[in-house]
Amino acid sequence: MRLKKGTRCTICKSKKLNNKAVVFLPHHRLALCKEHFISWFENRVEKTIKEFKMFSKNDTVLVAVSGGKDSLSLWNALVKLGYNADGLYIDLGIGEYSKDSKILSLDFSKKIGRKLHIVDLKIEIETIPVIKESVNKPACSACGSVKRYYMNKMAKELGYSVIATGHNLDDEVAVLFGNTLGWDIDYLKRQYPVLEEEEGFIKKVKPLCKITEKESALYAVFNNIEYIEYECPFSEGASSIRYKEIWSKLEEQSPGSKLRFYTGFLKKMYPLLNKENSKKDDLKKCIICGEPSFHEICSVCKLKQKIQKVKV
Ligand code: AMP
Ligand code: ZN
Ligand code: ZN
Repeated sequence: MRLKKGTRCTICKSKKLNNKAVVFLPHHRLALCKEHFISWFENRVEKTIKEFKMFSKNDTVLVAVSGGKDSLSLWNALVKLGYNADGLYIDLGIGEYSKDSKILSLDFSKKIGRKLHIVDLKIEIETIPVIKESVNKPACSACGSVKRYYMNKMAKELGYSVIATGHNLDDEVAVLFGNTLGWDIDYLKRQYPVLEEEEGFIKKVKPLCKITEKESALYAVFNNIEYIEYECPFSEGASSIRYKEIWSKLEEQSPGSKLRFYTGFLKKMYPLLNKENSKKDDLKKCIICGEPSFHEICSVCKLKQKIQKVKV
């Protein structure tokens, strides 16, 4: 996003105004001043919500908030756009990282005057560091299952109609790239910015799927949103971080690569993978907790059993 000195804002210029640009978005060929970047961002989020029929002003949206730039920017934009959106923070119990991100999420909820629900993993099951010790899996995979489980359970219990997460274009491209490298068809089949409601699952949406990580960071900074700037200590060495580095290089050499890869998949590949005759996974109810699951016992109840065994 390099900007030549003295460049004027594209939109201001069209309105015969003289404001200098502060950001350059090469893949959109736009140079924007702060004010027009903020409105560009919010318009893009609104367009994505409409394009994928994510939700309307009548819905009650539960934004999964991590304290990071993406989820806080999303929450800010949704409230500004007039949506009925509250937050859900899952306290993962990862030392300072969780303490800091919880404070930032709470402060932000006060600032925008919206409710923040909090789930304490230590009470529900165990903290992520303890779970990590009990299972022979990387922390991120157990953490992902636990987060998805409680997002869904809480949204149902609290009566929200849709869950929105802050996954951005970089996240989606990294996951899509990983799934393509391994040709993980079952995951590819479900990689869409909207997962419709189905037995026991609340509708889940990703309104930032066409916004890059840099754009959401800029939106947070321009709106004086304080967010957690360091990564979760367990994410170190994760393959998604390597893929993001590769894609940053591609994007720099050929702006628009990320968006082309992602939207190309959604338009051309996703429909092929989900043709009517393709087999649907069998959704059951977990025999222990009753939550939806693809197996007899859901992944969170399995985790609980493993932790119990370690404790005995
Ligand atoms: P991550 O998996 O950490 O990249 O986060 C992706 C999205 O999941 C974030 O943008 C949030 O919407 C949501 N999320 C991550 N961590 C939490 C958390 N501790 N509590 C609630 N939502 C979260
Ligand atoms: Zn402008
Ligand atoms: Zn269960």
